[in-house]
Amino acid sequence: MVQGNYDWTFVRVYTDQGIVGLGESFFAPGLTGIIRQLAAILIGEDARDISRLFAKMQRASSGAGSVAGIVYNAISGIEAALWDALGKYLGAPVYQLLGGKHRDRVKLYADCHAGREWPPYYDPVLQGGMVPWAAEIAPNPEEEAEIYTPEAYAKRAREAVAKGFRVLKFDLDVPNPYQEEAGSRRISKAEAAFMAELARSAVEAAGPEVEVGFDLHWRYDFASALRVAQLLEPLNVAWLEDPVPPQSSSALKALSEATRTPISTGENLYLVEGFLPLLEDRSVRIVSPDLQKVGGLLEGARIASMADAYLVGFAPHNISSPIGTIASAHVCAAARNFVALEFHGQDVPFWNDLAVLPDRSEVIVDGYIPLTDAPGIGVELNEEVARRYAKPGELFFGEE
Ligand code: MG
Repeated sequence: MVQGNYDWTFVRVYTDQGIVGLGESFFAPGLTGIIRQLAAILIGEDARDISRLFAKMQRASSGAGSVAGIVYNAISGIEAALWDALGKYLGAPVYQLLGGKHRDRVKLYADCHAGREWPPYYDPVLQGGMVPWAAEIAPNPEEEAEIYTPEAYAKRAREAVAKGFRVLKFDLDVPNPYQEEAGSRRISKAEAAFMAELARSAVEAAGPEVEVGFDLHWRYDFASALRVAQLLEPLNVAWLEDPVPPQSSSALKALSEATRTPISTGENLYLVEGFLPLLEDRSVRIVSPDLQKVGGLLEGARIASMADAYLVGFAPHNISSPIGTIASAHVCAAARNFVALEFHGQDVPFWNDLAVLPDRSEVIVDGYIPLTDAPGIGVELNEEVARRYAKPGELFFGEE
């Protein structure tokens, strides 16, 4: 487990052919314990039988919640490691095993946090404290704490575009002077106007050729979400993500019917079955599963394919290290309805350095991930960097 801006959790699968598969799981409390318990039922199995082993892990953890929940974070990392191992065994990149690629490079969208709360990335439940590299990015936190302003959004948009990103995303549910009550489901008229002004500033700074999406993190009631979605209509935004809680398919459907702004959701849903109601009801225009938690790479490819049948776009959520990001890029390459893949590591000084690639040193080239012909996922972990930022108290791939 490496302390990035989230606890990046890596899984290795060892085989009797000497092949080692590498995957990544989305963080969760108690995650490494679940992974170790699932490992016990995989030992001695044929690592090539990925769907069967997925079902075996699913059945084995059914008492802990078989249709959703953090056991799937664990299963997703193991499943990705199995695909990496299978690709290495067959001498083929994972995107070929998923049906072949529609594109040679995968477009990223840059998650842009304009404004910074202090301390950054401190989450007492999920991360247990301050990241050790916080001082590297903000040696003078009092001075560097930014407020959320239209000017800050424009500056961040211009910086991301200068790095080559063609799609950006900003949060609109940020601290602001018009918020009457913390945690409220209600967005006041003044707060909605402020959100629209943040959005306008980012969209204008990004320019006519760059797409911009916005996120509301499931916080709001229907009327508030609709108020913001309609204010965004003149900006022609790429999407409005999670305006209401993710399980509210009927509310999402009503929103989608009431606004031209494309509505998206998916990072808190699990498995194909989690996405079925959204698609059958035609509730969203874009689905955004997180491939390090939704159930794995094949499950992600199945969701993409099913969404495509409903003419719904596929824009995976992603907060992982380069390992999980590149694993997700294989699924994106094979998805016809692909929109963009999230990149959430702009603030992490060593994000790129965790990756060892066969053909280059930079994971991201001009806002895209170029795919290679390397077998499996095609990226290895830089162990020296991983050890430097390893989470205290967690075993390094089982080392005592
Ligand atoms: Mg989101």
